Amino acid sequence: MFKLLFKYTKDGWKSAMLGPILVILEVIFDLGIPYAMALIIDEGINNRGGDINYIVKLGLIMVGLAIVAGIFGALSGISVSVASCRFTRNIRSAMLEKIQEYDFKNIEKFPVSSVVVRMTSDMRMLRMAYTSIIRTMIRAIVMLILTAIMIFRLNSALANVFAVAIPILGTGLIIIMMKARPRFRILMSKFDAMNAGLKENIEGIRVVKNFVRAEYEEDKFEKVSKDVLKSQRYAENVIILNQPLFELVMYACMIAVAWYGGNFIIAGSLTTGQFMSYLSYLRQILFSLLGISISLTQIVNARASVDRANELLDEKPSIDDSLADKNLLVKDGSIEFNDVSFKYFDEAKKDTLTNINLKIQSGETIGILGPTGAGKSTLVQLIPRLYDIKQGQIKVGGRDIKDYSLYNLREGVSMVLQKNLLFSGTIKENLLWGNPYANDEEIIEACKKAQAHDFIMSFPDGYNTVLDQGGNNVSGGQKQRLCIARALLKKPKILILDDSTSACDTNTDKKIQEALKNKLDSMTSIIIAQRVSSVKDCDHIIIMNDGRIDDIGTHDELLNRNEVYKDLYETQLQGVQNG
Ligand code: ATP
Repeated sequence: MFKLLFKYTKDGWKSAMLGPILVILEVIFDLGIPYAMALIIDEGINNRGGDINYIVKLGLIMVGLAIVAGIFGALSGISVSVASCRFTRNIRSAMLEKIQEYDFKNIEKFPVSSVVVRMTSDMRMLRMAYTSIIRTMIRAIVMLILTAIMIFRLNSALANVFAVAIPILGTGLIIIMMKARPRFRILMSKFDAMNAGLKENIEGIRVVKNFVRAEYEEDKFEKVSKDVLKSQRYAENVIILNQPLFELVMYACMIAVAWYGGNFIIAGSLTTGQFMSYLSYLRQILFSLLGISISLTQIVNARASVDRANELLDEKPSIDDSLADKNLLVKDGSIEFNDVSFKYFDEAKKDTLTNINLKIQSGETIGILGPTGAGKSTLVQLIPRLYDIKQGQIKVGGRDIKDYSLYNLREGVSMVLQKNLLFSGTIKENLLWGNPYANDEEIIEACKKAQAHDFIMSFPDGYNTVLDQGGNNVSGGQKQRLCIARALLKKPKILILDDSTSACDTNTDKKIQEALKNKLDSMTSIIIAQRVSSVKDCDHIIIMNDGRIDDIGTHDELLNRNEVYKDLYETQLQGVQNG
């Protein structure tokens, strides 16, 4: 926690330092009150026989001390609150920055729901612990030290009560903390699971309704909610032991002080005023100890959150481009796969791609067909280094892809993923993701190629139409066309469409393929499709099966020699004619 504190306090140092200083001042003024009270009893009442002027003067001093302590208390509250908000804001920003560096493998390790919990609930825990450390813990420790000095000055024999009580309380608290920490970690992971279920349910609400699965989903949620409840009770069961432990020690101290204090008064070694202020200090000490125990509880809760934040922040991107030439740009759209084999997990028994050898000239249009799970998406995802290969070599523009910085490589290779997303904002804002400097003419040209211009213009606000989160207010096919236009705007050397026209009708699909084929620049296009008609006019068509390239050829060549292709073509042709 302290490592995070030093690293991410950054711009909050002023308020972070001011907080404890103000707390210490608050405590000093607070502690003057029982001291003034002892003087009123011993001096004003006992020694001076009820000197009213003296008593009023000290009474006013007590009020003054309370007001000043209150002001310092309020100011420290404000500065601690500012510092804690800045601290957690800095961690949150660092987390988001780190996630941007992640590659696909890292992203798969941290589900979205878990990241959300880490950036919200975990940060709230951390903020509460931060506030507690400075407001409650520092206050309690300073109070404890100063009060201990005061009570030793008043009567050192009576102070021995605390010499016995504090180690007992301390040991109890340490045991509770050690037991609670792993339980809170389990609790946060249960929160992750609950959020994951919730996210899935809400995102898929249309499917849930369509399949009339509301009851099933409710039961599923009930189960994870119960799991959270169980873990919460499991963690809290340890933490609540704090209270009885504290009360036991507090009442034992009070009895001991009353017993010994009474005897000292009878023996004449302690005055009534001293005894009264002793009792006030006793209360302060015990409340300080309670404050420390509450803070420790929050620190224990936050420890689990700190571990989870560190996990995310310390994650090393599995793709390293630090040795790449930062000035090297992709010069053309040629692609070469030399003996490439790939698997997603080292421990996997079988390769997802096996011995891929492939040469694509710059400017060619390539189609990829194959049954589901054949490895088509995996193959194209290796080109912009979304995953790293351990065997073989991939070249783009004549150079090993590892020679390029990830930024330059991905600037040269634009990919429309199967699950592509649009963001909330206008259509134009979404398109500008492809190229923030594109002018209206370029935007319209890209949209015309992607067959998106006409439907955009049919909306009352045209390019300024506001899209909902995820682009949910346009149809699947329209979304796909916008994603293609966005990718085209980047003017990449290589454009990859991974099943990106599957939701478009055959006619629109054909027009997109034609527009891509008739491009004037030398962009290489790779089109993964399920329909033969989508790739029929490509320069070469790759047939993939079980992670291998089965065949490569033109439509006519494959029709003549490849039975699988011929069957697929004829079946689909028949489907169209019958339809
Ligand atoms: P489809 O046409 O259904 O999209 P595909 O030919 O594109 O299929 P891939 O998505 O490349 O096939 O998947 C090839 C194999 O790799 C499949 O067995 C799949 O389960 C596996 N796979 C795909 N993505 C991952 C991943 N991120 N982690 C682990 N395995 C994966």
